[in-house]
Amino acid sequence: MVGAIAPWNYPLMMAVWKLAPALAAGCPVVLKPSEWTPLSTLRLGEAAARILPPGVVNIVTGAGPVGAALSAHPGVDLVSVTGSLETGRRIAAAAAPTVKRLHLELGGKAPVVVFDDADPAAVAAAVRTAGFGNAGQDCTAACRVIATPKVYPAVLEAVAAAAGALRCGDPADPATELGPLASHRHRDRVAGLVARALAAGARPVAGARTPDGPGAFYPATVLAGPGQGAEIVQQEVFGPVVTVQRAADEEQALAMAADVPFALAASVWTRDVGRAMRATAALRFGAVWVNDHLTSVSEMPHGGFKQSGYGKDNSTGAIDHYTEPRHVMLRWD
Ligand code: NAD
Repeated sequence: MVGAIAPWNYPLMMAVWKLAPALAAGCPVVLKPSEWTPLSTLRLGEAAARILPPGVVNIVTGAGPVGAALSAHPGVDLVSVTGSLETGRRIAAAAAPTVKRLHLELGGKAPVVVFDDADPAAVAAAVRTAGFGNAGQDCTAACRVIATPKVYPAVLEAVAAAAGALRCGDPADPATELGPLASHRHRDRVAGLVARALAAGARPVAGARTPDGPGAFYPATVLAGPGQGAEIVQQEVFGPVVTVQRAADEEQALAMAADVPFALAASVWTRDVGRAMRATAALRFGAVWVNDHLTSVSEMPHGGFKQSGYGKDNSTGAIDHYTEPRHVMLRWD
């Protein structure tokens, strides 16, 4: 039996990412959606119940304690969670007494490493989509631009202009590009991180102000020049906030990119194939794009290193979690 625990940021897609490989490998699943977004998963459960035998797909709803009970339950062999780092740590602790297998898809803090020979307009277009898409509530969000000196001013200007041009508003309006955050509590958390970044010396070049009015809106925000040790650089924001830092050279840019607790996704921007190969070899992240960010296909394994967790969603790598090799040896005399 697999215990699967999903986050709120892409509720239906996360449920499918958890269910599909487990079912393909023949494992029944107890799936817990986020307490913020259970409805699409319940609808999926109704559809599954029309097709699958009873007990194959089971949905339980509730907040953290329900997930904790699932993680500790002796009838669960493997727990697969997508969630925050803190939740991953708690699940690992809860699963330890019964020695369960774990698949942990935790946070990210993706660097966008831009070298002097890159095209600033292409970087800004990618950050517009991959940094601010889903209001930045994406574990692979392009949230940490690191640029070498010659290209830095043009990249900062282009990224700030792209952020400022996003149409913010009602998500039901097809013209809207940036909707609200998932909750007021989450918006307050994002605003708090930005306020502390400004107090620590980052310079606002777009957004950075909580708007008045209804809805948990927060503008596309670009902060220039935070220090490498700053909270805004080290901690996952999970909102529409992009930092832009200057690196002295290739070596320092790659060192800054790696100098965070997370290692889920990264991108490298250059026209020099040799530099692209050096950088992708040096960046030990679960996914590294060159001159792109976020593009995903189902045969691409999705998962991180370091405190982004371990294990993969998507690809045949995901099915491997739900199968175990064993041997049976027979002897007849
Ligand atoms: P969260 O950690 O608050 O919750 C995730 C799930 O865990 C929810 O279903 C929640 O109810 C459950 N949970 C909470 N406490 C628990 C406990 N003690 N034991 C068991 N289950 C518990 O995360 P969230 O706010 O829903 O989602 C945002 C986080 O998810 C971000 O950190 C983001 O990076 C991460 N995320 C990661 C990926 C990835 O693929 N790496 C993808 C999407 C989101």
